[in-house]
Amino acid sequence: MGDLETYFSFRSSGMSLVEQAGGGEKRLRALGAAPADAAELARLHHIYFGATKFTGKQRTARERALQQHHDLATLALIESYTARLKNQLDAWNLRIKLAGTPAHNIPAVASKKLKELKPKRVPKPGVRMTYRKEGPHSLTITDNPLTITEMRGVLESLNPTDLLDASKQVFFEKSHGGTKPAVLTSVVVTLDKLDKIVSGDGDDIVLELTNGGRMTGREFLTYKFAEIGYVTLIHPTIGPVWLHRMKRLAGFEQRMMASAEHPTCARKGCNKPADYAQVHHLIPWKAGGTTDPPNLTMLCAYHNGVNDDDPDKPTGAGYVFRLRGEVDYIPPWGEPITAQVAYQAAQRGLGPRGG
Ligand SMILES: [Zn+2]
Repeated sequence: MGDLETYFSFRSSGMSLVEQAGGGEKRLRALGAAPADAAELARLHHIYFGATKFTGKQRTARERALQQHHDLATLALIESYTARLKNQLDAWNLRIKLAGTPAHNIPAVASKKLKELKPKRVPKPGVRMTYRKEGPHSLTITDNPLTITEMRGVLESLNPTDLLDASKQVFFEKSHGGTKPAVLTSVVVTLDKLDKIVSGDGDDIVLELTNGGRMTGREFLTYKFAEIGYVTLIHPTIGPVWLHRMKRLAGFEQRMMASAEHPTCARKGCNKPADYAQVHHLIPWKAGGTTDPPNLTMLCAYHNGVNDDDPDKPTGAGYVFRLRGEVDYIPPWGEPITAQVAYQAAQRGLGPRGG
């Protein structure tokens, strides 16, 4: 037999090769096996002939693999599926099933079995919000079947053909016990947009609210502002004004201005509304950072938590910093702007916008 024929004939007598491959990886290496081959054979030997509390299942798996004449590659393929199961009993049952399956059917049988074994995700009761960069937002209520059915019943009694309209009645109409949100929020209008809106061109202009809402310029003109709270006007290029370093915790006005600049979390792609986000010091207070709008931004709890701004507790997740006036994300592999450098830059008036 030629070398290749010998190799192929051995590769296809999978189980008998595995049986002879005892003694561990080192021994197989000493016999001349390539590292990957040695590792694969040793692992298969351990599974089919090593110590296990599932000796009965081990024997069955061996017998079935022999009956099917599985070659080495097939035995390794089977392990690529069983490795996805944490539970050893499940893994053995899958191994037996696949050992008794003709090789060409293994992928299909394995994915079907794995799907069956995947634990069903049980949604937690609660109210979840989905904020999208564009298009409508969603509010999803999850609770026990009875409560959800009764909620639907209430909505149907108000407007059987339009449950969204019925929901609005429940939420907002006083006659149905509804109310308007008590949270003071802010609508953000840049001066150039305001010009257009006032001259009647506001239909296409979309204004963001710091609670995650949106309104058109026309809606803005007709809205009763007492109902939403504040209107913050921003100059499109100058942005938030400079205040003095007064206290560490950002006060109401600073928070409003940071929110106005970033109606959602300052990390790109994150749509968490500013009203539900945290004020973040771009240059940490202890490094000399001030509680002024240029040094403040809004980050959601998650992005504030992972922001890498404390040299004593590195998170390796990068951080936000103001570059050329804009709050930008510096990835962990980016050029680090140390607190020292940032502080000196701030002192020289080169750091955060405005000084
Ligand atoms: Zn975020």
